Amino acid sequence: MSVEPFDAVDVIRAKRDGGSVPEPALRWMIDAYTRGYVSDAQMASFAMAIFQRGMQRDEIRVMTDAMIASGERMSFASLGKPTVDKHSTGGVGDKITLPLAPLVASFGVAVPQLSGRGLGHTGGTLDKLEAIPGWRAALSNEEIMAQLAGEVGAVICAAGTGLAPADKKLYALRDVTGTVDTIPLIASSIMSKKIAEGTDALVLDVKFGSGAFMRNVDDARELARTMVALGNDSGVATTALLTNMNVPLGLAIGNANEVRESVEVLAGGGPADVRELTVELAREMLALAGQPDADVEAALDNGQAMDSWRKMIEAQDGDVDAALPVARETHTVVAATSGVVTKMEALPFGIGAWRLGAGRARAEDKIVFAAGIDLHAKPGDTVQAGDPLFTLSADDDARFDRALEAVEGAWEIEADGVAETGGPLILERITAQ
Ligand code: URA
Repeated sequence: MSVEPFDAVDVIRAKRDGGSVPEPALRWMIDAYTRGYVSDAQMASFAMAIFQRGMQRDEIRVMTDAMIASGERMSFASLGKPTVDKHSTGGVGDKITLPLAPLVASFGVAVPQLSGRGLGHTGGTLDKLEAIPGWRAALSNEEIMAQLAGEVGAVICAAGTGLAPADKKLYALRDVTGTVDTIPLIASSIMSKKIAEGTDALVLDVKFGSGAFMRNVDDARELARTMVALGNDSGVATTALLTNMNVPLGLAIGNANEVRESVEVLAGGGPADVRELTVELAREMLALAGQPDADVEAALDNGQAMDSWRKMIEAQDGDVDAALPVARETHTVVAATSGVVTKMEALPFGIGAWRLGAGRARAEDKIVFAAGIDLHAKPGDTVQAGDPLFTLSADDDARFDRALEAVEGAWEIEADGVAETGGPLILERITAQ
């Protein structure tokens, strides 16, 4: 039996006492945890010490690298075309990947979007697409390469288990130990997967506000800067947009309804905020892929992006023309008074949709694809007493009470009110300095 070069307790104590962990010890900690030598209890304690004490940029870089080294690294070099991916830190009503991936691919760029599932109030891209009858999330590496190389050019699928397995294990542990929302752990988690994936370029949508991991804009900015530096230092051309998640994105929060809204955007319509973010992220991605002047708005308006969407869904056995699931029960909340909608807070609406069955509380829970919330008004809109404000959808009307409890107090209507949205949708662009 080989002798282990470090003790987990020493590593935990070093971080607990506010020191930085030397590179060899940190690399060992991640490797030994992946092998099962370091226990879940020890790793949870280490994660909490990181949560409390933070990490230097250099430690975050080593942690990211150690998580990449825990698994395989993919390469898209043989494709012969640029690859560019996008990652969002997650929000309420965030369906942007759905219109974005085919839109960018329609310009001849390969978009490998290896995605995850939702846990808690933020939805997962794969869960949304699985609302489309027949659509398949699990692809082999060969299928991914064939789809990227060929006419389709975009693939949204489940990340294989070989990619950063240390993160998979650590993320599940963080989820149940209150250690998710801290910059070093979020940055190393996201960037280890994206760097291991092998994309040439990456655009990050880093969210701040009520429905985001980072409530505060300064924390979100620091997270964005950390991830942009990690990407560029590893040879992945990375930029970020800092975007507002105080209000749900678009009007649909759920799965089938978010697919419907994405298709509206691909048809040149859809809510203005969803279109704006799709367009700006597409411009960022195409600029990194060498096409700074691509006319992305025209591609949404003239059917080019829609053609690309149809091919992408059909390549994964989705029936693009099939009807999407519809809920058995609905409940509409109406405005009690006339005035301006001043508030519609993202997090309570995300939790409400989750309680209706749109999200899962445990990894093994089944999603109800038709469950969710459709907003009929957003902050800034004027409504009359009795006008519909939002509709809850579920398969069982017993779910409505807890969802209504979640959204209680989350919206306001004032006679002469001013919308509280927390500022513009896109606050800043962050690039490598
Ligand atoms: N998404 C991830 O992949 N990891 C995190 O830590 C947070 C969001």
